[in-house]
Amino acid sequence: MIGALPTAASLYERVRRVIPRVEWPAFADDIDAILALKRERNAAILAHNYQTPEIFHCVADIVGDSLALAREAMTVDADLIVVAGVHFMAETAKLLNPDKIVLIPDLRAGCSLADSITAEDVRLMRQRYPGVPVVTYVNTSAAVKAESDICCTSGNALAVVKSLKVPRVIMLPDEYLARNIAAQTKVEIIAWKGRCEVHERFGPADIRELREAHPGVTVLAHPECPPEVVAEADFAGSTAAMSDYVGRHKPARVVLMTECSMSDNVAVEHPDVDFVRPCNLCPHMKRITLGNIRSALEENRHIVTIDPRVAERARWAVERMLFV
Ligand code: SF4
Repeated sequence: MIGALPTAASLYERVRRVIPRVEWPAFADDIDAILALKRERNAAILAHNYQTPEIFHCVADIVGDSLALAREAMTVDADLIVVAGVHFMAETAKLLNPDKIVLIPDLRAGCSLADSITAEDVRLMRQRYPGVPVVTYVNTSAAVKAESDICCTSGNALAVVKSLKVPRVIMLPDEYLARNIAAQTKVEIIAWKGRCEVHERFGPADIRELREAHPGVTVLAHPECPPEVVAEADFAGSTAAMSDYVGRHKPARVVLMTECSMSDNVAVEHPDVDFVRPCNLCPHMKRITLGNIRSALEENRHIVTIDPRVAERARWAVERMLFV
């Protein structure tokens, strides 16, 4: 028997700490419509940790970091997948679900890291360093993944590098992630020059100012931040690892050096923790809204397609990562 759908009114309780009641009517109609459309179309919504709370907590079926979304995408029991995230995430979902329709609500939801490198760049790196395996961050296009030996996320990059059992690897495209991983291993890491436009803006002086303004605050940083930021933080890890840290350690006051919505989404789960919120917004993630998720479901747009010759090789690099 199919149960009753939740309603926007009942869902508000979940997010009332981070969304003022006065703003809720602007979301309620789209939420009710999306919940009904999901059932009608047997659709599932995958949402990244950087999505806003009304998406993350009210309409998403699967939430998490890139690694969790990639893993869960393999087990989705739905005819249609809508990715509330950026384009490379939608491509990854399509790679792992070649027979399903995968939609991205706004084609302009890109990523500065994904844009920093092309397939031709990877081929040139291979020519320059013959025989050195290429580890590619999932924040890349399918065409770049197809030129790679294995993918990684910020959550498993160290384990992926170690699993190769070689003295040297090429790690693309995030320079800071590569340097932060290099600090934890004897494996020589050859980096590319890509940067996340959100995390590169944090500096060590920000942390010092925060500690002065909020004595005793626990500082968690994402490994896409510069190494000087990671060195000053109390802990560095993927968005999933940061969320896990808050759950396990229950710091009285915490700051997450990452994208803005992350703090809101974690704060909903931990009402007893005080979140200090300096953050940087990702303009690409913010292109996804309830309005365009609803349009995606109503009008079947925008369908993600990948050249089958590229998809086969890219899928191999992603699946290899999932078994590390
Ligand atoms: S936060 Fe950074 S890495 Fe993530 S999508 Fe935005 S630009 Fe790309």
